[in-house]
Order: sequence, then C-alpha cells, then structure tokens
Amino acid sequence: MNDMMPHWLTQQAFLSPNVTAIELENGNQITFSELKQRSQEMAYQIATYGIHEGDHVAILSKNDPKMIITIHALSYLGATVVLLNTRLTPSELQYQINDANVSLLIYHDDFNDKVKQLFIKDSLSFVELKSLSMSTEVTLKKEIRLSDPFTIIYTSGTTGFPKGVIHTYGNHWWSAISSALNIGLSKTDKWLAVLPFFHVGGLSIFLKSVIYGMPVYLMEKFNVSKVNQAIVENQVTMISVVTVMLQRLMEQLGDNRYPDTFRGMLLGGGPASKQLLEQAKQKNIPVFQSYGMTETSSQIVTLSAHDALRKIGSSGKPLLPAQIKIHRETSDGIGEIYVKGPMVTNGYYNNDKANEELFEHGWLKTGDLGRIDKEGFLYVVDRRNDLIISGGENIYPTEIEHVLERISHIREVAVVGKKDDTWGEVPVAYVVCDTETLTEDNIIDYAKRHLASYKVPKQIIFLDELPRNASNKILRHELKALLQAKK
Ligand code: ATP
Ligand code: MG
Repeated sequence: MNDMMPHWLTQQAFLSPNVTAIELENGNQITFSELKQRSQEMAYQIATYGIHEGDHVAILSKNDPKMIITIHALSYLGATVVLLNTRLTPSELQYQINDANVSLLIYHDDFNDKVKQLFIKDSLSFVELKSLSMSTEVTLKKEIRLSDPFTIIYTSGTTGFPKGVIHTYGNHWWSAISSALNIGLSKTDKWLAVLPFFHVGGLSIFLKSVIYGMPVYLMEKFNVSKVNQAIVENQVTMISVVTVMLQRLMEQLGDNRYPDTFRGMLLGGGPASKQLLEQAKQKNIPVFQSYGMTETSSQIVTLSAHDALRKIGSSGKPLLPAQIKIHRETSDGIGEIYVKGPMVTNGYYNNDKANEELFEHGWLKTGDLGRIDKEGFLYVVDRRNDLIISGGENIYPTEIEHVLERISHIREVAVVGKKDDTWGEVPVAYVVCDTETLTEDNIIDYAKRHLASYKVPKQIIFLDELPRNASNKILRHELKALLQAKK
C-alpha cells in the first residue's frame, strides 16, 4: 500500500491558508499559512543543531503556541518528537531522556532551572532558538509516510515505570479521522485545548486541527471561569476535559447554560461517576464519555451524547476502525480489555519485555478490566492490578470510591486491598476530607447502607492528600505499601 501523503500542514496551508489554526487568549490568531511558515522557519533553525531524520528530539514546555510550532518543525525534519511532562522531577525527566535516546532537548525558558539539573547532549531554549540563523543545507519533508514514527509519549507510570509509546503519523491520522467519524465535524467547529499538550489527549487536538482545517482555542492553564467564558462568548464548540474539570466547570456555570452552538465535552483520562454524568445531563451539557490511553493515541471508545443517559457509566462503543474484546471473562462478564485498530501503537520504544508481553496477534492488552453489554457498550471497571479479591469475591475499588465520594465533606477517596489472614484481602479506604467531624464510624455506617458487606471498607485512614503522579493519577501501589509498612 502506498502510505505517503502530502505533509499535512503544508497541504492544509495550501487548502485553507487564511483559516485560523490557533486562537490565543489575548485575541491573537495564527492562520494555517502562518503556522506553516513559522514551523518551516523553525525547522531550518533547528537543523543548524545537526538534527536529521530519525533523531529523537525532546520538548519540555507548558501549553504555548511555540510548542506546537516546534512539533510541526520537527516533523518537517523527519525527527521523532519526545514529549515530556513538565511536572516530572529532574530524575524522572532524566530517565525518559536516557530511555528515549534523546539527542536534543528544546524547552520553554520557564523550565531553565529544571533543565540545568539534567545531563543531555544538547539543549536549546525557545528564546535561544529564536535568534538562531536558518540552515541552508537541509531539505524539508514534502510528504509524510504514515508508517513512520512521529512522537514518543511516556505512559503516566500509574502501574509501574512509564513506557515510551511510539506513535506513527498513521496512528495520529487514524485517531483524528476516527474521532471525526464519531463526533462529527462542523464547518463552525472550534476546539478548546487546555489539557497539557504533552499528553496525547492534548496533542491530538492540534493534529485534528491540521487534519480537519479547524481552529483551536489555546489556553495555557485551566481556569474555570475563563473556560466557561470561552464557551459562552468565543464560539468554542468542543472541549476535551478530564473528570475534575467537568465537575468544576459545572459548579461555576451554576444555573447558566451553554449556547446551543456548543457541541460538547470529550471526557477522558479516567472514570467518571454516574452522579457527575447525571448532573451534566440535567444542565443539558453534551458529554462524550470516552476510554483511551497513551497507546491508543487518544480515545478509542466513545459514548455518544445521545446514548449518555441510557448507558450511564459506559464508555461507549469502539470507533469505526477499532475493535475491543474482553479476555478471560469471569461469570460476571468482566475480564481484561483488549484493543486493536490503526490508532493503536505498534509498540514501546526500547522495551522488548513490554512489547512481548502486551501485544498478541495485533491486540494490545490494556491491563484494564471491563465488560461489554449485549448491545456492545463497554463498561470499564478498574485496572487489573487494583482488583481486590476477598474470600473469593472480586471487589472493584472504583465502585466503593464512587459510593464514598457521595458523602459530603469527603473530597477524595482511594480504596486498596490489605492482606488479611482470613479473607486473603480486605478493602481499606484512604480518605481526604475537609472537616474534622467526620469519623471512621460515620463513613463505615454509610458504606454499610449502600454496599454489600464484603465491599464495606474494614478500615478508614484519613490523609491530608493522596499520593499522585505527574499525570495527577492516584498511586495506589504507594498506598498499599503504606499499609504493609503500618502492619
Ligand atoms: P501506566 O500505563 O504507565 O501504568 P497509565 O495507564 O495511567 O500509566 P495513561 O495512558 O495516561 O497511563 O492512562 C490510560 C489509562 O487511564 C487507561 O488504561 C485506564 O486505566 C484509564 N482510563 C482512561 N479512560 C478511562 C475511563 N473512561 N474509565 C476508566 N479508566 C480510564
Ligand atoms: Mg497504561
């Protein structure tokens, strides 16, 4: 198969030169023609650092148009872009830089201090980059080969060491196309990008932009009133969010409504409670609940706003070119979710062990547990590693967490299994709350009224905050280790 296509930014700049590609909070706009121009100029500048096709170049940046321009610039050189999470510690960054074989780090000047602590062959800040002259010796790519690698993004490291996921151009292409087939595309679409661009969910918005010819409203930081204002006043039609953002947007919106032109929120990254989705429904906010991971280049399963209430709690059906199946179902239909499709990575960088263990006949073993109902809707239950087996019964921590989260004054909950001589394991809840008056007995009494007895936490431990990784995900293995240490 011929898998070459014109460079997507060059082609979009040719097709829609004067259409806005990026709109900034200060009202400035960058058209596709300008985006191409600036990306190509930057490619010539980066080339003076001897960057060639196949080299790995890392980017450490907050949400900034220069980050997007750098990503396109590197694609014009055929370099592979390694996106680094700005919340990582220097030693975590060092691990990824070494593991991904990075030869140059390009960074936002805000991270100067962090970069000084790293050992890296070459580094270049955005300010330094600006004053570089342009190489005359390089020929920029006119075409994209879909099977070529484009980005490496590390998984969040929730279950172990982060793994470097290689995405080809084709993975991103299919992700964008599949999403459009599912969510639909309108001439008036404008997508608000506020998720970190170093996560695949944030990056994918800018690739959709170039592939669809669609403006993106770029926001550096999540500010709840600014996001709501952009939706109400700046004709934003779509936004990608994670659960906590949706929650805060709804609180701030109060009794107000979004305009009819607003098409919806793509909700991803983790589980959302029924309560939250019901609230969204009451406020008439179309929410596209979705399931995906770094490995699937963004969402691979989505629940249409149309099915949202009927199938509350479900992540929906696979996108058109994707397939899902449940491996080793138990009697309740729950097993490991396997995924397959052209947006799924072909493998991890420098990680033979994971590549051997996690891929099977084109399927990726996600490590997540779920079930598929008779109509084909997926319900993500929990991560396989988090499953608690107590007296032969399977206990899913998320179910207990969602019940306890309904108690007022409880801000966060994480349930983990504790070793037990009689039952094998029993559930224990770590709780963060904003009052001194809530007691262990209050919480256990509430749990007894809403959960089968084997699911009721045997102990409640109050913490000031839960341990989280740089992607803000709860580190349950640390909580488990804490239990062992306490024993
Ligand atoms: P690591 O793979 O290093 O342990 P990670 O899996 O947290 O880290 P990501 O790729 O950022 O890294 O996250 C993907 C995971 O997020 C999924 O495998 C799943 O566990 C969780 N997730 C995503 N969407 C949902 C959802 N709708 N419901 C429940 N969990 C979800
Ligand atoms: Mg994972």
